[in-house]
Amino acid sequence: MILRPLFYLFLGIIVYCLTRLILKTLWMPRQETPAKPQAEELVQNPFCQTYIPKRSALRRNIDGRECFFCNQECYEGFLEKKGDLKDPTPDSPRVKKQS
Ligand SMILES: [Zn+2]
Repeated sequence: MILRPLFYLFLGIIVYCLTRLILKTLWMPRQETPAKPQAEELVQNPFCQTYIPKRSALRRNIDGRECFFCNQECYEGFLEKKGDLKDPTPDSPRVKKQS
């Protein structure tokens, strides 16, 4: 019977795998490896269009909507831009800059 040694080999592999699996699950809680940041959610900065990790982003509420910015400068820049769009005054010094 040629299958018999193969069967034992197979059995051995299964036992080996099971033992490893059990040892692994037993050791896991002790090692306590922190979750990789790859699952981190990215948010887009509406001002500079940069994607930033949500956790480190600057969170601001704009018109009841939650917006994320990479820093205070971008937040202020966004507010400025938003103000310009909302209230386009022709006499704005920014428009007259060219003359
Ligand atoms: Zn930015």
